[in-house]
This record gives sequence, structure tokens and C-alpha cells, in this order.
Amino acid sequence: MIPLAVPNLAGNEARYLADCVETNFVSSVGPYVDKFESAVSDLTGSVGSVATSSGTTGLHLALTAIGVLPGDLVILPSLTFIASANAISHCGASPWLLDVSPESWTLDPDRLRRELESSTEVRNGQLVQRDTGRRVSAILAVYTMGMPADMDAIGATAGEFGLPVVADAAAALGARYRGRDLGGLARLSVASFNGNKTFTCGGGGAVFGMDQSLLAHARHLSTTARRGADYDHDAVGFNYRLTNLQASVGVAQLEQAPVFLARKAEIDRAYRAAAEAIPGMSGFPAPAWAASAYWLSGVLLPKGREVRDVVEGFRQRGVEARTFWKPIHLQEPYAQAPHGTLDVCEDLWRRIVTLPSSTSITDAEIEQVVGAIEDVLGS
Ligand SMILES: *Cc1c(COP(=O)(O)O)cnc(C)c1O
Repeated sequence: MIPLAVPNLAGNEARYLADCVETNFVSSVGPYVDKFESAVSDLTGSVGSVATSSGTTGLHLALTAIGVLPGDLVILPSLTFIASANAISHCGASPWLLDVSPESWTLDPDRLRRELESSTEVRNGQLVQRDTGRRVSAILAVYTMGMPADMDAIGATAGEFGLPVVADAAAALGARYRGRDLGGLARLSVASFNGNKTFTCGGGGAVFGMDQSLLAHARHLSTTARRGADYDHDAVGFNYRLTNLQASVGVAQLEQAPVFLARKAEIDRAYRAAAEAIPGMSGFPAPAWAASAYWLSGVLLPKGREVRDVVEGFRQRGVEARTFWKPIHLQEPYAQAPHGTLDVCEDLWRRIVTLPSSTSITDAEIEQVVGAIEDVLGS
């Protein structure tokens, strides 16, 4: 079976790991952590980055650093991985779930504006959602499958309502937006280095951005808010740092960024062409504003067809095909979360088919997937 997304460890990973063991630098201080943070900053055009133990802890750290407090609401598109919503919950806040736009599968800027205009008011200098009476403290935009949301439009509305924007850029390293790097698109952005992402540390994450003092604050919180070498702490911090062992793998992965990203784009081109040759089928979104990092590629089925009906056909042809993120409002822990209308993400969820997208996939395997698209979906 050709797998959906597996690590590609053909570079310097083993050598750098051995170096960690030989030098005894295995924990959260070490030269590879520094190199890893520099590499993330370079790839995202950021002034700095903070390595974290996962994308989820990075999101929790970023939301905490920008001031999300217990009881708050944080605006989130419902089409996302549950970790985005969980990071909000870990702050003691709740997601306010909005829909995505059908063109990009990312937070719909028009709906965002309409929801904020119709459902919020300013009370005692704070933006409050009228129904719940809760403070709205941030927007968490999600770069679906590695494709940036329309950040200029989202940022313009956010600015009018005084809301900071954080980006869940979990799988988006290497993407660009209107010719710009990721680093400046949000107050803080967060990448994941989980095993199924384009670049992996086994597990890991990184918070990046353009505000040196905000990044320093996040770094401080990530290391138990320790002041100096003695056991003196000035806040309730976290132990969210990445280890040198994990960072060494991440450094080796990021060395291969141009090769990995080019391969992801080739995979997308092949599946997109195969899908578009079949009436009613299409590839994943490619809005003019963004150059995606193409974490996952696959096919969007036409209305009336469902992913669950085609998965078995792919499996029979040796191709792992899967459903994509079940929207957050359909998940048990978030059934009661405040939300707007969510028809677009529910419809998309039923029709998105994700297909093998590992950077290690061979040309022959891509041909096999293309053949399966023709066989399973063309008939
Ligand atoms: C992978 C992913 C995460 C979680 O990252 P982890 O490193 O697994 O904690 C969060 N959000 C999105 C959109 C993701 O794709």
C-alpha cells in the first residue's frame, strides 16, 4: 500500500542524531536547537523562532503569549485539525467556529466580517460576543493543507476590531502569500514537525514571527518562565521546549527544503491533472494569492459523491486514500461551541479525498496513484 504521508529520512538525520549522543547534548539546550530555530526563521522570513515540543504546544504557547485568557472566545475555522481547537481550550478559552470559503478552504474573510459586525459589541473597552457575553480575544487562521489563508483580508477586518491574528501554519513551511514569506502574515505563526508533515523532528513545533519581544516572551513561557540560573520563576510557564535530539532531525530535514517542496508541488500537479481530466472532479484549491506548500494533495469529488464510497476502490489498487479533517463542530468535545453557519466545511469534508503525498514517493508510485484516480473516479 502506498502510504498517505510518511517521513523521508534520507539526509543527515542519522549522522546528526549520533552527534547528539556523542557530545551528550540530548536535552533542550544544544547547538541543534539553535540551528533549528535559525533554519525556521530563514525559511519563513522571520526575525526569530521558538522551538516547541509539538505544533499543539506551540499553538498553546502562541495564544497564551498574545494574551488569550480563560473564558475568552477565539475565532477559528471549523475545518481544521482538532489540535487547533484544543490549543484554544488549553487556554481555558473556547473556539468560536466560522466557515471556510469554498475557493480556498480557509477562513472566509467575508463571513468573518459579517459575524463580527452582527454578533459583537464593545463593552467597557472590550470586544464581546453578544450571545455569550464572552470577550473575543484573537483570530486563529489555519493554513489548510499548507495553503495560507487570505491574510490581508483577514488582517484588515481583525485590525478594525482590534483583534490579533495567530496563524496555524502547521503544514505550511515553504508556502508564500502574495509573494511574501510566512513570517509577517500574523502576529505569531506556528509550524508542526509531526511525523506526517513535510518536515519532521519525530515530534516538534516552532513559533515564529516578526516581533522580537513577543517571541522572547513566548520563549520565556516555554521554559518554565525561569529568571536566570537559580530556581526563580515569574509566571506559570510551561515545559514546551524541543530537545536537541529532535532538533537535530529537524535540521537535517530543513536542509532538504527545496527538494521536499519541489516534490510536493510535482505530486500536486500530477493528481490535479488526473482529477481535472474527469468531468466534475478537481484538485485542491490554488487561489491566486498563495503558493501552497502542498502538504497533502488529492481530489475534490463533485457534489453528490462521497469520499467514504471511494476509499475502498483506492485501497484495492494499493493506494491509501483517506478522508480529511472532520469539522470541529461535529466533534464531541466541541458540539456546544458557539458557531456561525458551517455548510461549506461540512460539504467539503464529505467530498475531499486525500492521496499519497510523501516526499519519498517514487515516480512509478505517482503513476500508480494517477491510474487509480482514473479507474476509481473516472467510471
Ligand atoms: C499537524 C497539525 C497540528 C498539530 O501539530 P502537532 O505537531 O501534531 O501537535 C495542528 N494544526 C494543524 C492544522 C495540523 O495540520
